[in-house]
Amino acid sequence: MSGIFGVINRTGADEGTAKTAYYGVFSLQHRGQEAAGIAINNNGSFMVHKREGMVADIFDEVTLSALGGSCAVAHARGSDGIVGPDGIQPVVIKSRVGNVALSCDSVILNAEQIREELKNQGAIFQTNTDTELVLSLFSRNRVITDTIQEALLKTMKELSGVYAMVIMTDDALIGIRDPYGLRPLSLGKKGNEWMISSENCAFDALGAEYIRNLEPGEILTVTKDDVSSVYFNDSISSEERIKNGKVCIFEYVYVARPDSVIDGTNVFKSRYEAGKALSKLHPCECDLVIGAPDSGNAAALGFADGLGVTYGMGLLKNRYVGRTFIKSTQEQRELAVRMKFAVLKEAVKGKRIAIVDDSLVRGTTTKHIIRFLKDNGASEVHVRLASPEVKFPCCYGVNANTDKDLPATRMSVDEICEMIGADSLGYITLDCLRDALGGITCDTCSACFDGNYVAGKPVDFEQSVHQVTNL
Ligand code: SF4
Ligand code: MG
Repeated sequence: MSGIFGVINRTGADEGTAKTAYYGVFSLQHRGQEAAGIAINNNGSFMVHKREGMVADIFDEVTLSALGGSCAVAHARGSDGIVGPDGIQPVVIKSRVGNVALSCDSVILNAEQIREELKNQGAIFQTNTDTELVLSLFSRNRVITDTIQEALLKTMKELSGVYAMVIMTDDALIGIRDPYGLRPLSLGKKGNEWMISSENCAFDALGAEYIRNLEPGEILTVTKDDVSSVYFNDSISSEERIKNGKVCIFEYVYVARPDSVIDGTNVFKSRYEAGKALSKLHPCECDLVIGAPDSGNAAALGFADGLGVTYGMGLLKNRYVGRTFIKSTQEQRELAVRMKFAVLKEAVKGKRIAIVDDSLVRGTTTKHIIRFLKDNGASEVHVRLASPEVKFPCCYGVNANTDKDLPATRMSVDEICEMIGADSLGYITLDCLRDALGGITCDTCSACFDGNYVAGKPVDFEQSVHQVTNL
């Protein structure tokens, strides 16, 4: 999973384009912390700066001021199984029809098949990434079509999978949302700068106006003179396209920033409402409700309000923990949790604690947190989860991708409760979670809870998802 951002200054001027891209992608850091980059169009010459690491470590004043131009695309990459510098985006190519830069957040299910086809036609690849594959397919299609949009539509028809993309060409910024609308993507603007972003929290950070979400299957093109769209499925109305969309429900549960609005629903509000529903489904006798920081906080607040119990702090999260922990032994894993979370002893001592978390995927961190709370004097620890039991692996790059990791596939709620050492455990139901999404304008993917894979499954599910194979 990753965060993507694009900006175009419609006067063709440079009013701080690189800085807009920087602050935009910085606001999407929660979607990926492995690597980041910005590509910029300086009068037809494309420059790119990208590295492994966090956005703020990769760019400084000097680098940003060297990136002059009127259009830019940026990317913050999460761990996607591609090791090393190969997967760092944006990727810039020179095609027969000009420069193209691509930032994409995707899982292409038929990637291997398309790669083979292209290789048979003489294409060469340097990496095993979706990005390079999409660019190769696009550039082949561009040669045999009249417009960029036609080439993109043809490319979309050949791809199976889920994706959001921002593309920079010599004179346009283009945003694409897959036909399911599984990945979010939205449009905003500030003055002459028009922006496309994974989440609209980036627009708020930049003081820009949020215009709308892209529709499922929309190819939106912004140029100096025009803002226009073509659609993957143009035989139905906008209303129907939006209604048929299937955004990933985990965006609301965990992925998105709470201040974002995705397909009509505010993420914070949906988490709060889920917590409130949980208080009706699984109330408990407790003295203090805390959130598992940070993604459990909004649901914990709703749970506490629903019960009429105090919501407070019990755990602090150390925001400066990097990814460098060696976690091969039990002892090291526990140390890693102690480095990441600190218990506020005075707040939890002698108290019956209800801790609300967004989800329980593998359960290892939750188990350590419970032990940690009890070691510090909590008399009881009750766990409440603002999403249902994760029973199916995700083949779309968001959640765990093998069912070997998922305790809910082989254990009952009571068994999981015992495994994590909680005094009680309660999950929200899928129906209640859906109700918590309030004014959502579309349907959702909820395959990790119900096994209904809205965008299909890869041919060989276990092996083809997110594995690095030899070229
Ligand atoms: Fe999201 Fe779950 Fe669907 Fe994956 S399977 S896309 S995590 S809802
Ligand atoms: Mg968590």
